[in-house]
Amino acid sequence: APGDLLAARVRTFPLVQEHYYDAPPRIERGWRHHLLDTDGRGYLDMVNNVAILGHGEPRIAAAVDRQLRRLNTNSRFHYAAVVEFAEALAARAPEGLDQVLLVNSGSEAVDLAIRMARAATGRTDILALTEAYHGWTVGADAISTSLGDNPAALATRPAWVRLLDAPNTYRGRHRGPDAPLYLRDALDRLAHWDAEGVELAGVVSEPIFGNGGGVLLPDGYLAGLWDAVRERGGVCVSDEVQVSYGRLGAHFWGFEQQGAVPDIIAVAKAMGNGHPLGAVITSREIAEAFAVEGSFFSSAGGSPVSCVVGSTVLRVLDEDRLQDNARVVGALLGDGLRELCDRFGALGAVHGMGLYLGVEVVRGGPDAPDPRAAREICAALLEEGVIVQPTGDHKNVLKIKPPLTIDAPAVERFLRALEGVLARREA
Ligand code: PMP
Repeated sequence: APGDLLAARVRTFPLVQEHYYDAPPRIERGWRHHLLDTDGRGYLDMVNNVAILGHGEPRIAAAVDRQLRRLNTNSRFHYAAVVEFAEALAARAPEGLDQVLLVNSGSEAVDLAIRMARAATGRTDILALTEAYHGWTVGADAISTSLGDNPAALATRPAWVRLLDAPNTYRGRHRGPDAPLYLRDALDRLAHWDAEGVELAGVVSEPIFGNGGGVLLPDGYLAGLWDAVRERGGVCVSDEVQVSYGRLGAHFWGFEQQGAVPDIIAVAKAMGNGHPLGAVITSREIAEAFAVEGSFFSSAGGSPVSCVVGSTVLRVLDEDRLQDNARVVGALLGDGLRELCDRFGALGAVHGMGLYLGVEVVRGGPDAPDPRAAREICAALLEEGVIVQPTGDHKNVLKIKPPLTIDAPAVERFLRALEGVLARREA
């Protein structure tokens, strides 16, 4: 019976494992940006930013199958597939960032980046922005303040975490035309910490707010902040777990959107298309400073199977021109959403770019986020066979980050479904 799986899940999985819907579908299989449930109902997957190449990609399946039969072990052997992937990844990074360490997830990549920043500087404190999510491991969790509905977490935040107010251009203190003031505030804060003798190991942030549904940082913010951190001897880490791999359409990496270059890149998620894979990419200088700490080892990180997956993802992205698709189809989707935003009062703004989009559901304006309406809209879309889920600190942002395979007809189907749902709500 349909309810059995949900009952079993609720019984066995801790409550913190969210399932988004009162009656979630039992998804059985996927193909590109489509999903199928156990009753044979089809869904359009508008939310899955892990499966960047889409579901059931045969080139990934073939690569995994081939490599699993040959060898899968840790990266301590001099295995060609591992070195080839590390080189392919480094080739995508900015000049000078050519050292790669492989891990299994975004959280691990962020934790490793924090350790590297510390090794490179001999300092401890890490600067981060509020409203961000960087992962669940101890280090990444400490610098994550999003979904800040847990006062206990605030009380136990370690003293080495130095927080700057999120430069939120939609809902923040200096929204809109005053957004440049955010950089001034950040520099003031750094000066204040200088006076207190605070020494930063570095800064970790996303170049675009993933959790907020893709709110862009004010122009020049990241470059200005990174300059200031470097002037003080700190290291700049870009959390590229969500924004990278061409999802923005115009750029492969998120930091390119801000015209800034990091010292360390932490990346995961799309790079494995659902297979656990993450990496830290940095300079030889930082990698050597980290090596002084001893050796680094991750049992499954950078396994041959993970590496052939990683190489295949990069190859398919190019072969199928998926970054171009993100730019072209993303523009269609963004324009369509902005049009709906103009017509329906429930929608406040469209954030992001390419296929990295978020739509604010509000009651009138930025100061009245409407999480209930967002949840109802998602539930109604599910009825229409479209999967979208709420995100953001207020859980009122429709997260729209489909596989990069999505095409114009699917975008049209999604927009008409959303239009219908919004029209019925106003009727
Ligand atoms: N950083 C960002 C920006 C993320 O979005 C996430 C995951 N949503 C992480 C880090 C953590 O990655 P993982 O879940 O692979 O540990």
